[in-house]
Amino acid sequence: MNEDNIDFTKEIMYSDCPVCGGVKTLEVTNRTDNIPYFGDMLETAVSCKKCGYQSSDSISLEHNDPIRYSLKIDNTKLNTRVAKSQTATITIPDLGLKVEPGPKSQGYVSNVEGILNRFESAVVRAIKLEGADIERDVNEKALDIIEFITKIKTGEYSTLLILEDPFGNSLIDDDDADKELLTQEEVDKLQTGFTTIDQDEVE
Ligand SMILES: [Zn+2]
Repeated sequence: MNEDNIDFTKEIMYSDCPVCGGVKTLEVTNRTDNIPYFGDMLETAVSCKKCGYQSSDSISLEHNDPIRYSLKIDNTKLNTRVAKSQTATITIPDLGLKVEPGPKSQGYVSNVEGILNRFESAVVRAIKLEGADIERDVNEKALDIIEFITKIKTGEYSTLLILEDPFGNSLIDDDDADKELLTQEEVDKLQTGFTTIDQDEVE
């Protein structure tokens, strides 16, 4: 692909490897891209010539006002665009479900249906993790959540979807979405470093 027209900068440095201790064997590539919805992103990739260690990470260089988007969702909102940066928290209060950012969080652009599918997958994973020993009420709660999500998709139910981002790099792209600035107190309550699925409703 010809990248001449894409706005990016790239620099390569050599550093000592944290895994094998190789001296200047770690190739560090820093690349800054301008990504739609997310603005300037710094992508860092490291690769060790000696031991093969590889890792990559991307962080946002944008720093906008902390925001909260709220949208009542049902089957008419499945295609609404949702851009979630790696610092954003997504909550569906009716379900007691929350996805908070973690060290390995990636930003992504999806839609409401994609967000619902991610929640559904997380619940299915939780059920599988419990295995055959799963308690009956836990199993029932989990199945209730899956049924609720299905009914949102079919239009029988509607519910509130909330997206909060202390760095303001996220968006629910819908005229019906309420957008408001977060107070400092609300910002302080948001996680910025751990991935958890809030299972209060499941447990
Ligand atoms: Zn190494």
